[in-house]
Parts: sequence; structure tokens; C-alpha cells
Amino acid sequence: MRFDVVSLFPEFITQAADVGVVGRARERGLVTLQAWNPRDYAEGNYRRVDDRPFGGGPGMVMLIDPLRATLTAARAADPAPARVIYMSPQGQRLTQARVRELAALPRLILLCGRYEGIDERLLQAEVDEELSIGDYVLSGGELAAAVVLDAVARLQDGALGDAESAVQDSFEGDGLLDCPHYTRPVSHALGQVPEVLLSGNHAEIAKWRRQQALVRTLERRPDLIDESTLGKADRRLLADWRSANGADPGGTPAA
Ligand code: SAM
Repeated sequence: MRFDVVSLFPEFITQAADVGVVGRARERGLVTLQAWNPRDYAEGNYRRVDDRPFGGGPGMVMLIDPLRATLTAARAADPAPARVIYMSPQGQRLTQARVRELAALPRLILLCGRYEGIDERLLQAEVDEELSIGDYVLSGGELAAAVVLDAVARLQDGALGDAESAVQDSFEGDGLLDCPHYTRPVSHALGQVPEVLLSGNHAEIAKWRRQQALVRTLERRPDLIDESTLGKADRRLLADWRSANGADPGGTPAA
């Protein structure tokens, strides 16, 4: 999959994409990345990329022409069709489901704003979609683009080793949170590893993990789970947990 990132700070993106899973995916050719600086496509001695907002007010607004020329160059760099995404607090909030959909595309161009943002006419003409990484405001789109790049790149076939497999990650499959994980030592001043994980009984381990994922999701993100739609086996796991712990996930004492 190919990523192009349009940013006034291209090194920010390339450095973030040099390490870990994304770095390895790039080394193996599963992911390619090119960063584009609109200043390289700006005219005049000062290579100006922003100007004052019409109507007054604070801050600067990114100019149409340098961004348009950059996007034209980025599109022309590869024949594969590209989806252009503007990283914006006003976009749809990024979810794992959207990440999965984006990971199936051949190409993404991620557009990063700075200052007050980008001239609206450029967004209307050139952008297919706006994506937000959360309800807060960053000073630039680079961190958000790095988030999209990481989340999408790690889903490319072969990017994750077995040890990092995405199948049991939070939000995957039926959308529950992941279960807790433990490693050596078995005994530590901070506590013991749950016995079932040492039992070698794979069916019991799978049951325990499922129960933990259900309980965790109810405790931490009840919005992700609708108990009334759970199957019989899941309802039994929750009932077992409630009778063993004398409480509902989330802290309400059992009736
Ligand atoms: N005035 C804009 C607004 O309130 O919608 C915010 C501009 S922000 C200071 C500068 C740039 O950071 C934006 O153009 C956008 O690219 C990026 N940005 C800020 N918050 C973001 C978020 N939550 N998700 C994605 N990108 C964000």
C-alpha cells in the first residue's frame, strides 16, 4: 500500500514511520511512503504557504495554490487511484472499522493542516474525506496522519508477526476490548499470574480470555456492548463472573 503525506513538516512523518511495525513494513516493501512539502510547490522568493484570513481574526490560513500543486504532483507519482484524506478535528472520528476499510485501499494521500487550517475551497475541490483522531485540537495534522499511517500499515498482510497478531486486539472481530495479558515471572510482588493461564488447557484459557474481554468491555466501554444481543455462551460467562465476584462489571453490586 502506498501513502503520500502532504505536510509542512515532512520529517515528522518520515521519522515516525521509520520505527517498529511500520518501519519493518516499509523495509519489506509492504508499505511505501512519500512525504511532500507544499513549500516546495510555493511560488516567489518567500515560498509563501499561508496568508491572513478574510474577515479578520487571529491566525493564518493555508493557501490554495501550493497545496493544489503538491496534491497534483503526489497523485501523478503513482497510477493507483488515491483517496485524499484531510486530517481535521471536524472530520468523522477514526475507528478500527474505518481503519480496516482504509487498509484495503491501494493508496492514501493524507493532507495535514497547520495554523487555522486550509482554505475551504481547496478542501471542497480536492478532498474525498475528512478524518479526526478525537475531539480535541492539535496544532497540526502530522500526529493525526502518523496515527492513520500506523493503524492502517500494521493491517497490511505480513506486517505483523504472529506475536503481534491483530486478531485479538481491542475493537477487532465482534468489537470487544482485549483481555489482560501476563508474562514471566509467575509470582511477583505485584501479584500472581491467573492459574488458568498456566494450566495448558486451551479450551479453559479461551473461555477465561473471552470472559475477561466481556467483563472489561462492560466495565470500561459499556457503549461497545449490547448485553441483550450476546449469545448463550457469553451470557453464561458473565453470569459465572457475577456469581463469583458478587458484583456487576462496572461496580454495581449484584441483585
Ligand atoms: N481551526 C481548526 C478547527 O477548529 O477546526 C483547527 C486547526 S488546527 C490548530 C491545525 C490543524 O491540525 C488542522 O488543520 C488539522 O489538520 C490538524 N488537527 C487538529 N486537530 C485534529 C484532530 N483532532 N484530528 C485530526 N487532525 C487535527
